[in-house]
Formats: sequence, structure tokens, C-alpha cells
Amino acid sequence: RHTTTPAPAGAALEVVGVTKRFGAFVAVDDLTLTVPSGSFFALLGPSGCGKTTTLRMVAGLEQPTVGSISIGGRDVTGARAHQRPVNTVFQSYALFPHLTVAENVGFGLRRRRVADVAARVAEGLDLVELGHLADRRPALLSGGQQQRVALARALVNRPALLLLDEPLGALDLKLRRQMQLELKRIQTEVGLTFVHVTHDQEEAMTMADTVAVMNKGQIEQMGAPAELYEHPRTAFVANFLGRSNLVPGTVVERLDGDLLGVDVGGVRVRVPAARAVRAEGAVLVGARPEKMRLLAEGEEPAATENAVGPGTVVDVSFTGVSTQYEVRVPGLGTFGVFAQNLSGRAGAAPGDQVRLAWAVDFTFGLDGRDDAAEG
Ligand code: ATP
Repeated sequence: RHTTTPAPAGAALEVVGVTKRFGAFVAVDDLTLTVPSGSFFALLGPSGCGKTTTLRMVAGLEQPTVGSISIGGRDVTGARAHQRPVNTVFQSYALFPHLTVAENVGFGLRRRRVADVAARVAEGLDLVELGHLADRRPALLSGGQQQRVALARALVNRPALLLLDEPLGALDLKLRRQMQLELKRIQTEVGLTFVHVTHDQEEAMTMADTVAVMNKGQIEQMGAPAELYEHPRTAFVANFLGRSNLVPGTVVERLDGDLLGVDVGGVRVRVPAARAVRAEGAVLVGARPEKMRLLAEGEEPAATENAVGPGTVVDVSFTGVSTQYEVRVPGLGTFGVFAQNLSGRAGAAPGDQVRLAWAVDFTFGLDGRDDAAEG
């Protein structure tokens, strides 16, 4: 394999045109991605979208049917798992029960006859804040602590690439959230490249510099978390990352200020051309619920806002940080409106008739996909 083009300088991982078939089934479909060195990259998608298969091909546990994979500029497509500068942390910790924490962490180093095992183990345990438990056996540790041991065991190898396959999946919600911040801190501290697989959008957004949203074996969109959230290109991406209040519409005119006039169920709304996937024809128009507001009785929307309604408030839920309204607008559907709980503002109640408004600037016009139903 001397004919492939080298990875761009600074790429820890390059996947080029990779397809994986199991019989006639295409699990990964012509996937291409680059992960810059030292970054935290997340593969995010629903169950069965092909993210684990992708990770397994990077690890060398599965061979691509077509395409190539380079790690640190070296083509490893044909290389065995143990020949790759890669470590994987799985959801199951797979610690040796009869070894102490320190022995577990140092196991691989000892086998490879690395110098300074004790120092590197101590450093690894320090990093995951488990130095004080070095002599314990895994059975006496909590799930979160065991996962940290597994992480330290991978980190002490100083792999070019650390792969994380739903590593927090077995932890309860509170511990998960805590470990997400912890993982991010560790990644920043050691500067290794992390590639993390998850179906949890909050997890991907919390930790990763770059998120690739996968659907049916393909990457739908890749970018920084805020970019994906604020500028989704497809309904699938918009809905996978949160509510998006999408309504089918048709572009009917081009307006001043680089805006498109879009008809949605007989109502005219404006969409910035820069936030629309196309300037004519069918688009799905939407906005995030926290960008929407309920107009007070008799209040008109601002000149910079779109508005729909009136509709009926069908549900109100108080979450502490926000109050979430569900508003059914005849002919358009049900909108979610999340209002920050600012003191002294009375909200609407179920049964109330309200109009909704939101800034034109935060309106998007997306591609529809058959499987994009609001989740
Ligand atoms: P999950 O989060 O559920 O693990 P995933 O996105 O990681 O989902 P994969 O595990 O990559 O998905 O699987 C993608 C598709 O490929 C699934 O439909 C799965 O059934 C199929 N698949 C995976 N491995 C094999 C295999 N060895 N033989 C046949 N089909 C497979």
C-alpha cells in the first residue's frame, strides 16, 4: 500500500471512502472524515447507524469492504488491531478481577516491557484521580471508578488515538454527566486525540470539538456542536440535536436583505438565505423552541420577527430553568416554546389562545428526509 495520498499534516485519523458491507447490508456507506490531532471528535447517531462499525474498522477489529484508513499519517487499512497505535475503552470495563487497580493499569505496559511502568501507572491514576485506590481490587470500586481505571489503562499506552465506544453507557445519569466533564478535562490535559461514539446528543455536544452526525451509514453533517445546533442542514440533524418545530413550506419569493419569503400553510415567514438549503422549492422551516416566545394579548411581533397563530396552549411544564409550552396551531402542527423562568412574569395556561413569534435570524430552511420525524 504505497499509492495512497498521505494524510494532511496534523491529522490523527483519516477515513477515506470507507464502505462496510455485511452480506448485502451496507452498515457504513462511503464514509470520509478527518480528525485533527489533539481534538475530541464524536460520532453521534441513533442505534444501528454504523458508528460502532466505523470505530471497529479504525481499531482494526473489522476490515473495510472498500476504502482506506490512516492513523497519524500512516495507512493502516490492512494492519491488525495490535499493530495500530490505538486503544479502545468500551462500555464494559473488562478489568482483571484478581489484579489491583495499579496492576490492571500497568498490565499492558509490563507485557510490552516498557520502562518506568510504576511511574507511568502513577501518572495515569493521577490523571483519573484514583491514586488513592491503587491497591484496591476492581470488585470494591463503583462503576464510575472502574471506568476510570479502564480509561487510565488506555491512557498509559499513550496511543495516537483513543477510541471510546459508549464508555459511559453503563453509568447512571448523574455520574455520566460528571464523567463527561471529566473526560473532556483529561483529553485537554493530555492532548491525545479522542474519537468517541455515542447516541446521546448532549454527551457529544458537551465533550466534542467536532461532532459527526451519522444516519444510515453516512455522515449527514459534521461540525462544531454550536454550528450543528444553530445551523443544521437536514431535518434529521435538527431533530437529533433537539426540538426544531419544523413545518413544510415552499419558497415563494426573494426579499431584500438576503431573505427568502416562504409560505407555510398559508402563512408567510422569512428565512435568511444563508440558513436555507436552497432558494426555491420545498423546504422545512423551523426554529429552536428556546428562540420562540408567546406574544402577549394584543401584542404585535417585532419587524424582525416571524409569527404564527393563534394556537391553543395544550401543555405547560415547569422544568425549573424554563417553562415549556406546547402550542397547537391549526394547519401547522404543535410547536414547542421554551421560556426562561425570569422572575415576575406570568405565563400562559392550558387552553389559552396565543400567537408565537421568533427572530427571523434564527429561522432555518432545511432538507426534509423520510426518517426525520420530530423525535
Ligand atoms: P448501536 O449504538 O446500537 O451499537 P451503531 O450505530 O453502533 O448502533 P453498528 O453497531 O455499527 O451501529 O451497526 C450498524 C448496522 O450493521 C446494524 O444494522 C447492525 O445490525 C449491522 N451489523 C453490525 N455488525 C454486523 C455483523 N457482524 N454482521 C451483520 N450485521 C452487522
